[in-house]
Amino acid sequence: MILEITSGEQEVLPGPRLFNMAKIKLKIDDREIEAEAGTTVLEAAKAVGIEIPHYCYHPGLSIDGNCRMCLVEIEKIPKPVISCHTRVAEGMVVKTQTENVKKMRNSVMEFLLINHPLDCPTCDQAGECRLQDYYMQYDRIASRFAEEKVHKNKMVDLGAGVMLDQERCIACSRCVRFCNEVSKTGELVLANRGDHVTITTFPGKKLSNPYAGNVVDICPVGALTSNEFRFKKRVWFLSKTESVCTGCSRGCAIEIHFEASKVYRLIPRFNPQVNSYWMCDEGRHGFHFVNENRILKPTKNGVEISASMAISYLAGEIKNLSPASLGIVAHATLSNEVLSILKELGTSLGTQVFFSRNEPHNPLSDHFLMTKDKNPNQMGINHMGFKPLSELTQGQSLIVINGLSKKDGELVTQKKAKVIALFSANESELSKNCSLVFPIPTFAEQNGHFTNGDGLVQAFKAAFKPRGESKEIGVYLHMLLAQLEDKKPRVAFGI
Ligand code: SF4
Ligand code: SF4
Repeated sequence: MILEITSGEQEVLPGPRLFNMAKIKLKIDDREIEAEAGTTVLEAAKAVGIEIPHYCYHPGLSIDGNCRMCLVEIEKIPKPVISCHTRVAEGMVVKTQTENVKKMRNSVMEFLLINHPLDCPTCDQAGECRLQDYYMQYDRIASRFAEEKVHKNKMVDLGAGVMLDQERCIACSRCVRFCNEVSKTGELVLANRGDHVTITTFPGKKLSNPYAGNVVDICPVGALTSNEFRFKKRVWFLSKTESVCTGCSRGCAIEIHFEASKVYRLIPRFNPQVNSYWMCDEGRHGFHFVNENRILKPTKNGVEISASMAISYLAGEIKNLSPASLGIVAHATLSNEVLSILKELGTSLGTQVFFSRNEPHNPLSDHFLMTKDKNPNQMGINHMGFKPLSELTQGQSLIVINGLSKKDGELVTQKKAKVIALFSANESELSKNCSLVFPIPTFAEQNGHFTNGDGLVQAFKAAFKPRGESKEIGVYLHMLLAQLEDKKPRVAFGI
């Protein structure tokens, strides 16, 4: 069942409500606003575009209220209060810009920066560091601290590809709460007190959960960095595109961070219907196939040729085959758009369309996001009604789109089938042995939709142009059908 199409452009959507929440009227900085009962002052302000600075608050975690950066003044309350923990009330009057509030923010910043090292020129967080940003927005006061800063260990390998710089940590406890509340593995703890406080793992333990990379995303400073990303690229050089993870049938919403046709990292994008604020490490690290091992030009028997020549060879082969002796194999990693084109091609040529899919591997499914089905679009394949490859007949000729799983490759050999053309983004055993090979773009280079395991259709967007001479399947198939004189294209294949 198809539920709905999301563009993936959600800001903060309200979660499911069991009943209508009462509306509360209050004033924030002289603006009259309405907020649902139970909303915190910080969230109510954010909803109307009033930013209250904060470090320890994160909408996906419990409230800790330890950083004190979100202090505000509220009429009739004698002391300043933390807005991340204070709920809205009828008639409340909140002030976020008074002289007192500004002084308090300056004091918090001064306190946090006393022992913070001046690492900014070499710190990976530079450009997306809350200490830097808030210093410029709310502080800009020279340090009065003349003593030696407290020094701590600057390279602690926490495990799971996460590196800790103890000196940079502001003890906000976001990473601790993530491990306690989200991954539910509890590996991290704040040890010691005062200026000796530090994040550490329990004795003899490492950070080792399959969602550990999220602690790097939520660390508001450069204390936690990813081994995969650190020192690779300054973040201000990176562009961002909204996409969907292809690692399994969950279809987590992600952002692709890239520069000049190279992907540097994937980070989760908030989607309350699928993954909230998180993603798994397998999906996070699963982008290298976009950068590496790419097929960039069409080849015939290993020799580079033009796309039009390669298409002529393929048209020649098809003309010599009966529709029953030809088959098309679509992969469960292809978009709904490509799958419909292949269905249309099958109908035009009168041939069967089969499917191949990634096989399950460890880690399998778990209590949280990861699913056993390691294909982003098996549901799309099911909707098209393509046949499993086990229904292949002996000696059939095949046009394969996006590769074959190991098991399906063995099946093809067993049935003495012949792959006459392969359309693929990456090199493989199959591409080395196939006589006609066509380069196609990866998910990062095209627009499309995947239908996740729950039937949710989600859009993904092209981050950059197809690499090398890769062309979208629709373009190739339009060229192909134009050459098959007696089989005119019934549709323009999306171009
Ligand atoms: S390592 Fe980062 S997320 Fe963890 S407590 Fe320190 S500053 Fe907060
Ligand atoms: S759970 Fe699946 S879709 Fe989500 S990040 Fe992991 S591999 Fe990607």
